[in-house]
Amino acid sequence: MNGQQVLPEGSNRVLGRDAQRTNIAVGYAVAQMIKTTLGPRGMDKMMVSELGDITITNDGATILKEMNIEHPAGKMMVEIAKTQDSEVGDGTTTSVVIAGELLRRAADLLDSDIHASTIINGYKLATARAMLELQAIGEPIKITDTENLEKIASVAMGSKTVGVGTGKDVLAKLVVSAVKQVAEQRDGKTIIDKDYIKLEKKKGGDVLQTQLISGVLVDKEVVHLGMPKKVSNAKIALLDVALEIEKTEVDARINISSPEQMTAFLDQEEKMLKGMVDKVVKSGATVLFCQKGIDDVAQHYLSKAGVLTCRRVKKSDMEKLSRATGGRMVTTLDDLDAKDLGHAGSVEERKISGEQMTFVEQCKDPKAVTILVRGSTDHIVDEAERAVVDAIGATTSAVEEGKFVTGGGSVVMELATRLRKYAVEVGGREQLAIQAYADALEVIPKTLTESTGLDAIDTLVDLRHKHEQKDGKYYGVDIYGLKVGDMKAINIIEPLKVKKQALQSASEVTEMI
Ligand code: ADP
Ligand code: MG
Repeated sequence: MNGQQVLPEGSNRVLGRDAQRTNIAVGYAVAQMIKTTLGPRGMDKMMVSELGDITITNDGATILKEMNIEHPAGKMMVEIAKTQDSEVGDGTTTSVVIAGELLRRAADLLDSDIHASTIINGYKLATARAMLELQAIGEPIKITDTENLEKIASVAMGSKTVGVGTGKDVLAKLVVSAVKQVAEQRDGKTIIDKDYIKLEKKKGGDVLQTQLISGVLVDKEVVHLGMPKKVSNAKIALLDVALEIEKTEVDARINISSPEQMTAFLDQEEKMLKGMVDKVVKSGATVLFCQKGIDDVAQHYLSKAGVLTCRRVKKSDMEKLSRATGGRMVTTLDDLDAKDLGHAGSVEERKISGEQMTFVEQCKDPKAVTILVRGSTDHIVDEAERAVVDAIGATTSAVEEGKFVTGGGSVVMELATRLRKYAVEVGGREQLAIQAYADALEVIPKTLTESTGLDAIDTLVDLRHKHEQKDGKYYGVDIYGLKVGDMKAINIIEPLKVKKQALQSASEVTEMI
């Protein structure tokens, strides 16, 4: 495979059948590039950007994003990874690798003079059947199944370096707890809005020090030195009003002719600001988060009243604060009332890696939480964050779809077995395409096996045999045990949705190319 074809410079204009072959070759080449990262024993890749920035990762989507692929067929492969990432947040490498294999097998079929439309038709039939089979193979899971959710989170992080060992268990617990806290029941369905799990990363410390804050971590310091740094049982006002006197009138001229008038003017301004602060204090608030600015004088009065205050808080954080504390965002000071206040067990300014941040924590039943990701270097923090994102995505998909399957290549192996039987039922030329599709799926266990150094052919033969058996559907590649094993028994489970989406986008892109 000529790597140059994928890169911006070496593009030629080719037509018809040749174009199709080139597209297939490029798509396959892209898949080959990230194939070796698959699974917990997959290899990391190091990428150096034109500016010299270095990214070391095992994340398929990240690698493809950094690669700057220009060829249209290559771009389509990148799109699969992006879709997979946005739809389910995990399974990016899987989807691209399967697509690559579907393409390669399609090329073989074209070589044996099977028409493209027959191949496409066969692949479509196979995908549709695979969806049905997956639905049947999947087992139920609910938001209350903490143990299984933690297994899913843990497997999703598996291939990231930080995910190995105890780090994985610690992060999996945090992620599941976070997902459970933001989950809401609506019309009998569990809805999880991932945006309400705020991720904040700070270099320093260790991945094991990553923590879940039952509330919001606001990247702002307390505005005035005289204010308390910590308030317990906080009553929190959320304001979208500036505590400033507007001086916006163009050319407003004030004629002041005596020192008395000057004092009177300043007094007046001070009085107005004090009036504003009084309204905040009167509501009973002991903490104030303001989306806008706060005048020095107002800060002084807030400080005298002992109100812990942060200003210029981001809008997105204000929304999260509202969800976490149960407080209401108020846009007119006169409206501020005790019942608008939110609550938190503790609000405290703390220093994290030399930066002051405000922790709003111990919220009761918060509908927004924060995961503060730690790690000793930038690379580790970044990769830990990607691991957490994958775990959140996997856990969320599992709950929303309500089903899980076993990993380690077991479910695709089972699908392959079932699809081969289906191919015979369908018959005709399509049969060959469906068989090719089934064979293509085996690339996943094959690649996982290769990452362990086991013999791929022996393993596949063994797996095929196991799956022919009545209760062989859980058999896959036991990567740490270095053998074929029952994936359910060793807790390798994954959301059904990851597999569904992966197969769907892989076959879609194959059709397009
Ligand atoms: P993707 O980007 O597709 O999620 P990963 O590198 O995360 O790629 O690898 C996912 C694959 O690795 C899945 O097929 C999953 O079942 C498998 N896997 C993850 N952890 C294990 C494990 N401990 N044992 C066997 N297979 C595993
Ligand atoms: Mg993954």
